[in-house]
Amino acid sequence: MYLPGVGPKRAELLRTELNINSVEDLFSYYPYKYIDRSRFYFASEIAENLPYIQLRGRIRNVQKSGTGKNQRLNAVFFDETGVIDLVWFKGIRYAEDKLKPQAQYIVFGKPSVFNGRFSIAHPEIEFATEENQRQALGWQAHYNTSEKMKKHFLNSAAIRKIMHTALQNLPMKLPETLPSYLIEQYNLMSRHEAVVAVHFPQQAEVLHRAQHRLKLEELFYIQLDILRQSKFRELKYQGFLFDKIGTLFNTFYEKNLPFELTGAQKRVLREIRQHVGSGRQMNRLLQGDVGSGKTLVALMSMLMALDNGFQACIMAPTEILATQHFETIANMLDGMGINIALLTGSTTKKAREQLHEQLRSGELKILIGTHALIEDSVQFANLGLVIIDEQHRFGVAQRARLWNKNLQPPHILVMTATPIPRTLAMTVYGDLEVSVIDELPPGRKPIQTYHYYDSKRIAMLDFLKKQIDAGRQVYVVYPLIQESEKMDLQNLEAGYEFFKNHLPQYHISMVHGRMKAKEKDDEMRKFASGETQIMVATTVIEVGVNVPNASVMVIESAERFGLSQLHQLRGRVGRGAEQSFCILLSSYKITTDTRKRLEIMTRSNDGFEIAEADLQMRGPGDMDGTMQSGMPFELKIANLSTDSHLLSFARQVALEILDRDPKLEKPENAILVQQLNKKNKNSMNWSVIS
Ligand code: ADP
Ligand code: MG
Repeated sequence: MYLPGVGPKRAELLRTELNINSVEDLFSYYPYKYIDRSRFYFASEIAENLPYIQLRGRIRNVQKSGTGKNQRLNAVFFDETGVIDLVWFKGIRYAEDKLKPQAQYIVFGKPSVFNGRFSIAHPEIEFATEENQRQALGWQAHYNTSEKMKKHFLNSAAIRKIMHTALQNLPMKLPETLPSYLIEQYNLMSRHEAVVAVHFPQQAEVLHRAQHRLKLEELFYIQLDILRQSKFRELKYQGFLFDKIGTLFNTFYEKNLPFELTGAQKRVLREIRQHVGSGRQMNRLLQGDVGSGKTLVALMSMLMALDNGFQACIMAPTEILATQHFETIANMLDGMGINIALLTGSTTKKAREQLHEQLRSGELKILIGTHALIEDSVQFANLGLVIIDEQHRFGVAQRARLWNKNLQPPHILVMTATPIPRTLAMTVYGDLEVSVIDELPPGRKPIQTYHYYDSKRIAMLDFLKKQIDAGRQVYVVYPLIQESEKMDLQNLEAGYEFFKNHLPQYHISMVHGRMKAKEKDDEMRKFASGETQIMVATTVIEVGVNVPNASVMVIESAERFGLSQLHQLRGRVGRGAEQSFCILLSSYKITTDTRKRLEIMTRSNDGFEIAEADLQMRGPGDMDGTMQSGMPFELKIANLSTDSHLLSFARQVALEILDRDPKLEKPENAILVQQLNKKNKNSMNWSVIS
């Protein structure tokens, strides 16, 4: 507020619009782009494919033409070497006011060719002043501002000015925020230099060094924080020791296992076994694409717990999924005499009481359920292993409550079929060790995916008919339109009618989120048993449902789905030996981005590739479920999709420091603790409880 050029009004705007509360906050409000103002171009130098350039000269022939929406403003800009057209389609009045004959201007913009002449559309223009005419203005920073700020003339240029004043008024250099040994070892810019250069870079190379330093610092502290917490936990808690492979595991392996494990399943089981046999508490993320066989890995891990005298549980995000897990697992364990139970919201009070009793006595060995497991009334005798399926639906706080069911925390295995790009895994789940099932069970044929416009829907029916007559089943999925549950239902019901009218010879099931659990289950069961051949549903079937005989997934309004959701849905087919298909229907009018999304789907079956593409296209903040709920911090300068190398490097640096000084007690590391405390003051301490 006291900074020249700010004052109480602007200070308030900065606070409410950009969350800038101090000069320090201001310095870490980084530009979103830079424009090369290190030189002026001459009009005669303009060529095709030039980037953003600046010119200096005068203006003549200001002309308005057209009316209403077609109105435009033309002017001719000239210097001593030539001319270029300037064109406005918007903001005409504002531009017109600014264009005065005889005045000297500086014009910025990206030249293009129109009607055989060079022109710049919507150039930025400024009156030439002594300051902006000086040659070496370097790279000019541009800042995001809100509409409200612009209304009060707090635009990018104003921020730049404030930034400049703030830097000039500093009583001393900005204090260093990294230990000097790091600065030396990695030849980093000092904090002061980096802040100055990132806002007022003179040359590209200096800018890059400044960005490197600031990004590295940002990523480094996140990694250091995560890794320090997990080190701390490791030092504080012992893990239960599962040191024997006993009868249950072996009996299952020899007698009950219905197929050979894939190489990846074997490897992952070895990783888990090693971890739970080490005396360290396990916090592990198990990633595996849909259909890769995670359930079996979960089951066999639970047998390790049982063999060592412990109980185990699986928590699933929906009742359907919990029930399916229960049935699959009960089936596989058939004849082994293991006491196993299902607990969901619809478990009756009486059954529940009995179940609680058996859990406390230790008689019940495996419990499978939904959120109901977290309730305080659910107490175990000795819970050794918790498995969380499709983890992203569970908040961190919920995980924490599971943790507290013992004095000593159980081992935790988090399973997800949403492949998480490596960089995100390293941050969002940075304290979890990662196992990956990167191989599908043998005999699976890659799903063939096609994208059609809605107009092909009728033609598609023939194809569906052939599939069903050959004994297969079909899913048709409709998007959830969150703003209007009513419309969802209408779409879904219209879809149901459509298929009923066009394919009257088949039985059709319908499932949506607003049905009672029992009705839903009944319909699911009918489809699973083959009683119905077509399942018309909203995305409630997204997670986990397993009907191997279903071979076609039709996704209506595919443009409304994110990539990872499309991939999840597609994963509902291709589970049997038959060739499976996924048909993406969309309207004809779709954006370039959507087209790209659908194209990736038709090209790739690889969940990791798709997740990477998703991250590249949308940025981490926008990713489905996992990311939205999982991002516990905000990145101000680094970018998880483009700075992945730097992230690995930052993690490595943090690991090395913690290896040498696990509690950060050495004097040279005092600065690290101080910075971490400062950064954590404002954010929830989340990683302790993962
Ligand atoms: P997901 O990883 O999506 O949870 P599931 O555990 O549901 O996958 O497994 C998908 C299907 O593959 C199931 O029908 C399961 O029985 C089968 N399956 C799992 N492992 C193997 C294997 N090693 N060989 C053959 N089929 C397997
Ligand atoms: Mg699964």
